[in-house]
Amino acid sequence: MRNLIEYQRPKKRVLADAYAVGMPTAAGAEAGATPPSTGDSERVSAPVAARVLLIEDEPGIVDFVKRGLAAEGFAVEAALDGSEGERLALSGSFDAIVLDLMLPGRPGLEILAAMRTAKPTVPVIVLTARGEIEDRIRGLDAGAVDYLVKPFSLAELVARVRAQLRVLAQASTSTLRAEDIEVNLLTRKVHRGGRPVALSSTEFELLSYLLRHHGQVLSREQILGSVWGYEHDPGTNVVDVYIGYLRRKLGRPDDPAPIFTVRAVGYRLGNPS
Ligand code: CA
Repeated sequence: MRNLIEYQRPKKRVLADAYAVGMPTAAGAEAGATPPSTGDSERVSAPVAARVLLIEDEPGIVDFVKRGLAAEGFAVEAALDGSEGERLALSGSFDAIVLDLMLPGRPGLEILAAMRTAKPTVPVIVLTARGEIEDRIRGLDAGAVDYLVKPFSLAELVARVRAQLRVLAQASTSTLRAEDIEVNLLTRKVHRGGRPVALSSTEFELLSYLLRHHGQVLSREQILGSVWGYEHDPGTNVVDVYIGYLRRKLGRPDDPAPIFTVRAVGYRLGNPS
């Protein structure tokens, strides 16, 4: 299994390889660094690490998987119930999601369905004690890209997450470009005119959305719905605030960011005309 892991980091080895989930892991305490706070602190640069959301209600598994993925270089965020998990999955910017099916609050299959509608490109790997064949089929039918039955080895989970990220990387959409802005969706690096620009994760999502629709006029409602996951404008000026952040970070005194206000409507990224 270990040979599936191609780009290991020269970090502490994951001791948990040999452990099945749910086994006591006294040694696990030193298995990996605690992940850095992955809270969406907007004034801080986005992590370069791929971001993984873990939705799982068993604290032991959460702890084990979180530490293991963090030790492999992923930025991991966890939700312990289905409602919170769905909220994060739909509003956050994750590169992959690891989802338990039997959850309090909201069943995993419903979260899968919501993800398929709202964020169809984010790979979801289902993690569940229900190994019955019909459950696997239901999970895959609902849009899961892969399936792991408990107990699983951490090495296998890491390998599968990496495999899904490779699939994403191979998709031709891994780089977005417009004007002189370039965004790499996999490494999450942003450049303008060759100059690196550090963005928070929300700023990154907003810029990616504008780039995907460059030249188009986008209403605040469209932006809110796509970037924040709100179905209607809750009367917030969050879009305007974040456009301001982006302009500040992308612009230079002699060369403002190519993001234009369209009076009474919203915004457009493109050339000035
Ligand atoms: Ca569960």
